[in-house]
Amino acid sequence: MVQTLLDRGYLRTPPVIEAMRAVPRDAFLPPEARAKAHEDRPVWIGRDQTMSAPHMVALMCEALELAPAQRILEIGTGSGYHAAVTARIVGADGAVDSIEFDAVLCDDARRNLAAVGVQNVRVHAGDGSRGRPEGAPYDRIYLTCSAPRIPKPLLDQVTPGGLILAPLGPTPSRLVRTRRDGDAWHEEDLGACAFVPLRGEFGFGDR
Ligand code: SAH
Repeated sequence: MVQTLLDRGYLRTPPVIEAMRAVPRDAFLPPEARAKAHEDRPVWIGRDQTMSAPHMVALMCEALELAPAQRILEIGTGSGYHAAVTARIVGADGAVDSIEFDAVLCDDARRNLAAVGVQNVRVHAGDGSRGRPEGAPYDRIYLTCSAPRIPKPLLDQVTPGGLILAPLGPTPSRLVRTRRDGDAWHEEDLGACAFVPLRGEFGFGDR
């Protein structure tokens, strides 16, 4: 898998390559789905949700310019796999706060993360579209579900010089990287993508 992602240009930097090699994707899938762990596609994790494809996790980790000791906010924990990869890159001096709307997935993710020994991810149940003011500011914020626009509260929760990465708009969404430069914001369109919709106050509704 890692070789395929390298060949296709999704993986570029040693820390991301190392993390993708180290985190066992199958451990984050329900037993009946584990055979699909080595395919570069999204996989159903139950509760009407999917784990992102490995190339999307790789691409997002590269785009976020992750570095040791950063503090990260993830919105949409799902299985916990993407959070585990991010956490490996920021290392023991860094931390990932991850928010999941679905209480059942929250429990699953906590169990998955504990089973592979990840200690620097904290999973929070709730509406991540409001971000996490009590943990802010974050060096990096990313969404693993598509939002109508960047939820306004997140703009106040990223450090100056920090990045927000989010799939924006209905499917097919655009993956947009927004850099905070003091009080100015610079947006870059990184291409088309498909994600499940963000729910909650600043999402597409609760369904
Ligand atoms: N990163 C995950 C994939 C997540 S799929 C992985 O590696 O497995 C997107 C997740 O976003 C779903 O689990 C969905 O329940 C969650 N979600 C949707 N709206 C949300 C919100 N407002 N707050 C937190 N999580 C949300």
